[in-house]
Formats: sequence, structure tokens, C-alpha cells
Amino acid sequence: MMNTPPARPLAPSLWRAMAGPEPVPRAPLACDIDTDVAIIGAGYSGLSAAHALHERGVRAVVLDANPVGWGASGRNGGVVSSKFRLSFPAIERMHGLEAARTMHRLAHDGVRMVERFIDEFKLESARFEHTGSLRCAHTERALQGIRAEADWVRTQLGDTSMSVLSRAETQHETGSKAFVGSALSADAGTILPLHYVRGMADGLTQRNVAIHEDTPVLDMHRLDGGAGAILRTPNATVRAKQVIVGTNAYSNLTPATSDYQRELVPFRSAMIATARLSPELDARLMANRRSYTETRRMMKWFRKVDGRMLFGGRDAFGKEGQTTGFDALRRAMAGLFPELADVPVEYQWSGYVGMTFNSLPHVGRSDDVTTFCLGYNGAGIAMASLLGRHAAALALGERPELSLLASAGLNPVPFHSLRAPGVRLVAAWYQFLDAVGA
Ligand SMILES: Cc1cc2nc3c(=O)[nH]c(=O)nc-3n(C[C@H](O)[C@H](O)[C@H](O)COP(=O)(O)OP(=O)(O)OC[C@H]3O[C@@H](n4cnc5c(N)ncnc54)[C@H](O)[C@@H]3O)c2cc1C
Repeated sequence: MMNTPPARPLAPSLWRAMAGPEPVPRAPLACDIDTDVAIIGAGYSGLSAAHALHERGVRAVVLDANPVGWGASGRNGGVVSSKFRLSFPAIERMHGLEAARTMHRLAHDGVRMVERFIDEFKLESARFEHTGSLRCAHTERALQGIRAEADWVRTQLGDTSMSVLSRAETQHETGSKAFVGSALSADAGTILPLHYVRGMADGLTQRNVAIHEDTPVLDMHRLDGGAGAILRTPNATVRAKQVIVGTNAYSNLTPATSDYQRELVPFRSAMIATARLSPELDARLMANRRSYTETRRMMKWFRKVDGRMLFGGRDAFGKEGQTTGFDALRRAMAGLFPELADVPVEYQWSGYVGMTFNSLPHVGRSDDVTTFCLGYNGAGIAMASLLGRHAAALALGERPELSLLASAGLNPVPFHSLRAPGVRLVAAWYQFLDAVGA
């Protein structure tokens, strides 16, 4: 008999502390069922797909090996962004202006989708704030790059939501002297990620959409003659006409979904949260409570929550659960904000983000029964909220406009087994380039 991975509690984090007592667990699937669509993964992707299916009157069930939001959706930084890792001018250079226009629309559709969930499920507790996001330049060359991008987006796409801030304005905005300027994207914001994902799940439960925790899908078999698939879980099976896989960087939890892991290069992302700052520091640092990123290749990002500084970054050298990376984050934070050097860190946690080779999310069908959406490259709050919906449409045979996000089947990352040393090599090279200011 195959070993069944036990459900794991959510990792300790500031989000978990802010959410209060743990909710009553949702029951595992206990008896065999027939449904139209089985959805694997109860993060933003899977829950958004479930929402879209419910809206169309299609029967669906959501299965997760762990509690709702256990994956990246319950432990991310809460930065809601309207961008892809690939900039819009780069998309235009590689794929033409029309593609850049559509991708720009999709990126902003993601933020609209978050707003829709907040309104529809009355998720005020998730505290979505449309505060804008500031991208802070660490060199003059980087500033030239983001200025050129803001100009291009305004002249070519008519988007006036991006503006460039001088060195003095950036210093006033952030409270840090480390940046030479910045670009403000107004259509962005911050959210409490665990409140958001749990709120989505509660909203769906109120509409009688079944969500089963502690229910890993152990294997999936397609039935002959287009009759769907059978999914085996520890206590029961699901017979479904269609399957949607929303397991992203955690796809390797069981062999049933591990093919989807090969589409990705998983990268550990780590975060720290300080104790509450003094009123004087709180007023001086990031007074507008936006989200902030920097232009370094091994990018750090920061924001404030309830007077605490949250500081995060990619840590290619550590694994989830390890403490490596947190000291480096603390040093990087003190480098940008020397006055925080002695402020205690009260929470630290990490998770995996799913990077892709083309730096864009992928949504598509891996066969006539199975649809997937994944690879948000560390920016999945808005995008997974949107692409779960588009995955549902694909599963029903519709043709949503997906532009460069459309995947014609699975495309495993070349030399996937070498990804861990590969990631370390690339990260070391990026750190070197950042250090020399290239
Ligand atoms: C530390 C960190 C910081 C981040 N910061 C940001 C940010 O500030 N802004 C932003 O936009 N994005 C951020 N991200 C990325 C964002 O969180 C993800 O892109 C997004 O949450 C992906 O959602 P998902 O639903 O696709 O996957 P997940 O939320 O990871 O959910 C996948 C689920 O699938 C389940 N699962 C896997 N395999 C199986 C199986 N075989 N059977 C049953 N269940 C299974 C898992 O238990 C898990 O719950 C961050 C990520 C991390 C880790």
C-alpha cells in the first residue's frame, strides 16, 4: 500500500498569528463521489476555478492534501501586483505590440478579480488596500530602465498609472537613502493573504461547494472513451468528467501531480516580520503603506503591516523549513534601513514560488481531461485569482483570451533534474551582478 502523506498544519507566520484561532478543519473526502470537475489544490488557483464553475452551475469538488491556504496562498507577502516578471516593453520586443496590449489587460484583470472576490465574499478582513506599488532603483542604470518602461507604457498602451519619482521623493516615500529613484504603479496594493484565501474558501462553502482538506490525490487515471478520470484519495475515489490541477510549486506532494512540478523551477522565498516599530519610526518609514520592491536581480521587497516591517526575498540556497536565508534578509533590511538593525524579528517563514523558463504563468490543457494553471513567478495573488477562472473556462471547452499565457500542453523544464544546482548557479551569478551594480 502507498504511504499517504499526512496533512500538515500551516507554517507559523505573522499571517497565522493575525488570523487568530485555527478554523475547524474541513472533513477529508470519506465516500466515493461523481462530479463534473475535480479540482486539486485549495489555494487561489483552485478556489478561483471552483468559484467560476459554481457560477456556471457546474458541479465541482476541491481536494487538498493540507488545510486551505497551506501552500503559497497562505504564506506569501500579500503584494497584489498588476505586472508579470517580463516587462511589457520586453513582451513587445519579443512578441509584438498586440501581445503586449493583451498581456497588459490580463495583468490588470488579475487585480480586478481580487477586488471582485473581496466585494462578492465581503472580505473586508483581508484588508485589500489599493495603495500602489513602488519599484525602487538601486542604480542610475536601473532607474533609466524603469523610467523608459513607464514612458513606454504611457505612450504605447495609454496607461498613465505609472509615474517616476525622484531620489528625494523616493527617500521621502520609503525612509531609505539607498535608492536613486523609483516608479510608482498605482494599480497595485496589499492584502492579508491568509485571510483572503480562507475568505474565498468560506464564501464557496456558504454556496455549498465541497472543499475537502487532508485529502491528497494519490493517483489519477483517465477513463477510456473520453469518460473522464478517476482520482484516488486515501479513503475514497472521485470520478470526474474534467480535472483542474492548481498545485503550482507544491505539485510534487504526490506522484499524481508531480508531472506539473517539471513545468517549474521551484525557488524558496523567505520572509521576516519585525516587532512593532516605535511611533516615530512607523511614521517615517513607508508612511503611505504601499508595497515596495527593488530593481536588484535577487530582488528584495518590503511593506508594513500594523506597524511591523515585513521584508522578503528569494533564497535560492535554502529549503523550506530551514533557517538559512533569514539572517541574510535581516542584513539586507538593515542595509536599506539602518535604524531597523536592532529591532527584533518576531516572525520568519518561507515557501516555494514556481518560476518558469519564459518568466510567465502557464495555463492550458495537459490532455482532453486535465487543465492546469501554474508558474506565477512569485506574483500569483492577482494572477492565480484570474487564471483559476480561465482554467475553469478551458475545462468547459471555452476559449478565454490568454495570449502568451496559453500553454499547448506540458513543457517540462529542460534538464529538470539539474534544476537545484542550476538555480544556485544562476542565483550566485545574479548576486555577483547585483553586488557590482551591473
Ligand atoms: C514566501 C512567498 C512570498 C510570496 N509573495 C507574493 C506576493 O507578495 N505577491 C504575490 O502576488 N505572490 C506572492 N507569492 C506567490 C503566490 O503566493 C503564489 O503564486 C500563489 O499563492 C499560488 O497559488 P496556487 O493556488 O496556484 O498554489 P498554492 O497556494 O501553493 O496551493 C497549492 C495547493 O495544492 C495542494 N496540493 C499539491 N499537490 C496536491 C495533491 N497531489 N493532492 C491534493 N492537494 C495537493 C497543496 O497542499 C497546496 O495547498 C509568494 C509566494 C511565497 C512562497
